[in-house]
Amino acid sequence: MNELTRWETLTPLARTRLIRRLRPPRAPVDPECPYGFHHEQERAPDGRLERVNVVFLTNRECPWTCTMCDLWRHTTTAPVTADQILRQLDHALERLPEADAVKLYNSGSFFDRLAIPPAAYRGIAERLRGYRRVIVESHPALLGRRTLQFRDLLDGRLEVAIGVECVHPGVLDALNKRLTVADLERAVAWLHEHALLIRAFILLRPPFLPDEAALDWTCRTVQWAVDRDIQTIVLIPTRTGNGVMERLEQVGRFAPPTPDAIEAAAAFLFAQPAPVRLLDTWDLARFYPCPDCARLQQERFERMNRTQTWEAAVRCPNCTAP
Ligand code: SF4
Ligand SMILES: [Zn+2]
Repeated sequence: MNELTRWETLTPLARTRLIRRLRPPRAPVDPECPYGFHHEQERAPDGRLERVNVVFLTNRECPWTCTMCDLWRHTTTAPVTADQILRQLDHALERLPEADAVKLYNSGSFFDRLAIPPAAYRGIAERLRGYRRVIVESHPALLGRRTLQFRDLLDGRLEVAIGVECVHPGVLDALNKRLTVADLERAVAWLHEHALLIRAFILLRPPFLPDEAALDWTCRTVQWAVDRDIQTIVLIPTRTGNGVMERLEQVGRFAPPTPDAIEAAAAFLFAQPAPVRLLDTWDLARFYPCPDCARLQQERFERMNRTQTWEAAVRCPNCTAP
């Protein structure tokens, strides 16, 4: 598979074809039901510890095909209707408790009209009356008129999560996101100009770099977000599982983050003055060889996310690793 070893020289179309070819099957989804929902607590940019409802809407796959992305697994192959989106939201909200904020994540971009039909915006906003903050995700290229239209329908503040991923120009290109650092700069400036809250997703240990450089660029990307006054910065450990990432690992173009790398990146993040610093703990156990270490670190990072206070590494009674 020598295309994998010369990934940077491939065209976006060639990469897209290869990524799609190497994929495992999609998970079964129902366009009438969100593919998940839960309740959590999270620190808000104004310092409050908020109750947050999280809804994972089922909809058509994102039109980008990023190298590290596995969100397509819970998507449909055809667009869903506005009414289906509203029924999905009703299904989740009827079962979730009262909360201060809501995340509507849709495995892609909320402002992709073939994912969330704009005809659903008004009905969504009506169902979200009373929430202080509404968080959606979007590719920077889809920010614009529809973002402002949705913002104006809401009671609460709109926060837009963007995948900043890695500001190394070559890596950002190789991630197949069809995005440059200049595009990210413009997106962040636009979001600030329209008084929208910003959440940055950053890869903890991007592919295509040796270990030390990968950690360095993780920290540089955090610094980039801090310097641009992004309110919420989330480190997401990069994982395999979408087909192409394990193949890149086999040819030495990727290695999952080690416990030490997670520790170092988290320490850098928590030393920053951003209002909200989060380490995504979803599936964190996979990065730890010892299950007790995994549990202790997961509990610790979840506490740190809530309190926004750094805690020294916990020592596992079964091994010497921190
Ligand atoms: S833009 Fe986001 S959802 Fe779409 S493929 Fe890339 S990472 Fe996945
Ligand atoms: Zn252990």
